[in-house]
Amino acid sequence: MKKNFRQLSEEDISRFIESTGQKPYRAKQIINWIYEKLACSFDEMTDLPKDLRDELNKAAYISNLHLLDRQISIDGSQKFLFGLEDGESIESVLIPNVRGRDKFTLCISSQAGCAMGCAFCATGRQGLRRNLRAYEIVDQVISVSRIIAPAYITNIVFMGMGEPLNNFREVVDALRRLTDLMGFSKRKITVSTAGVVPKIHELAEKAPEINLAVSLNATTDEVRSRIMPVNKKYPLKELMKACREFPLSPFRRITFEYVLLDGTNDSKEDALRLVKLLSGIRSKVNLIPYNPYSLPDQDTRQLFRKPPEKKIHDFQNILHKAGLTAIIRKSMGADIAAACGQLKARYIDEK
Ligand code: SAH
Ligand code: SF4
Repeated sequence: MKKNFRQLSEEDISRFIESTGQKPYRAKQIINWIYEKLACSFDEMTDLPKDLRDELNKAAYISNLHLLDRQISIDGSQKFLFGLEDGESIESVLIPNVRGRDKFTLCISSQAGCAMGCAFCATGRQGLRRNLRAYEIVDQVISVSRIIAPAYITNIVFMGMGEPLNNFREVVDALRRLTDLMGFSKRKITVSTAGVVPKIHELAEKAPEINLAVSLNATTDEVRSRIMPVNKKYPLKELMKACREFPLSPFRRITFEYVLLDGTNDSKEDALRLVKLLSGIRSKVNLIPYNPYSLPDQDTRQLFRKPPEKKIHDFQNILHKAGLTAIIRKSMGADIAAACGQLKARYIDEK
């Protein structure tokens, strides 16, 4: 079977090159072509001898995500639907940076679907299809970079489909490739979790300096367990303890995402409890007013509603008065269903 060079580790590539009797530096050249020059085929690697390229083409290939759909929102954000080799599909969302028109943050998926079943999330409502491999995670960055060049990606957030900490090994490998091979700074990458507590500790160990975001979304165990089943296993007390213990470099903060759901978690009491929960943690809060979504085969009635503007601002004011940084996240890409919680793959059978 042909070897997929996107999947191989650097050591595997070196071993392969050695086995063909080529000089070791050829492996470095190839790795550089794949991760820095974003090559999609051996034919692009023009400084390799023709006979090596021919040999590579015979024995190996470079898998590429298939771009199935690209939608551009009126606000400048873009959603990409990618097909994987086995016919599964995933979405990545490109968000323009506030400063710099040619600079973007890319929101990537770590799983096709998600097993966590959060009640307010379209991905969660569909269940888990499968984990992504590290190279499929990284390829979202490579593919989108190629598509948008000469504009480029400055920040990467693991806030697309899936729970990154449920696909731990591959996510850590992807983080390593993004930083060590592609040159992204750790400070520019954020991994978001719904609260898989033991893996939060492990993330700090295995991928130090990567930013952590936690989807908090409620201030009592009763409400949190109702909307986020993971809370039954890892309740708030344990989650907040893990956040307190998370090592932070100077000037870094943990981001807490808080989806505002009308009448569920948006009261004055909730805001005050949130202040208490976050005391002693260097934090910033992203308030995300609920984004509605619809799923093809499910009841189209919405389980939740976005709170009225006044309630959203009242909630923010309470946090501000307590000295917290709290930003109301403008929903980006809502017209193309690319906003938080709206991602869902349309499963396309390619056969
Ligand atoms: N599984 C990880 C990574 C996905 S991030 C996590 O949950 O953190 C997706 C973010 O979108 C989460 O912060 C989640 O709380 C938020 N979200 C999910 N559904 C939403 C919706 N319908 N409206 C607004 N935000 C939503
Ligand atoms: Fe999964 Fe995150 Fe959606 Fe929850 S919010 S279902 S953990 S993607």
